[in-house]
Amino acid sequence: MSWIEVVFASQCDDDGNCPYCRIDYGECDCPGPTQDEEYEYRFEADGTMRARRIDSTATALIAYAKSIGFDYVPINDTIDGLLVSGQTVIIVDWKSQGGDLTPSQSRLIARGVPVRFIQRPEQLDQLKREIDK
Ligand SMILES: [Zn+2]
Repeated sequence: MSWIEVVFASQCDDDGNCPYCRIDYGECDCPGPTQDEEYEYRFEADGTMRARRIDSTATALIAYAKSIGFDYVPINDTIDGLLVSGQTVIIVDWKSQGGDLTPSQSRLIARGVPVRFIQRPEQLDQLKREIDK
C-alpha cells in the first residue's frame, strides 16, 4: 500500500473542491487528516503528512500469523514488517488484491533482499512448515 499526501480542507478552493480531484472534498477519495479508522499516518522529514489506507487484508494475515506461532514486528515502511519464529526472521509484505510492488520494494528485490509477499493464509502455513523442518 502506498503513502499518499493528506489533503486538508484549507487546501480546497472557494467551492470546497479538492485541489487534486476537483470534486467536493467530502466526496473525493483523498485522505483527510483525521480518518483514523481508515488510514494510518506519518510525517515526512519536511513536515508533509502522508496517509496509507489501513489494509484489512494485512490485519487478518497478521492475526493469522500470530495464531500459528509467529511473532510479528511491524515496520510499516518499504516493507510491512518481520515475522519471527525462534531464530528465524522473515521479511514480509502483505499484498492485497493485486497490489503492485512499490518502486522501493522493486529496488530491494533487485538487490536480492529476500522479501516474501504474502497474500493468503496458506502461504503463512507453508512458511511455518519450512521453518519447523
Ligand atoms: Zn481529492
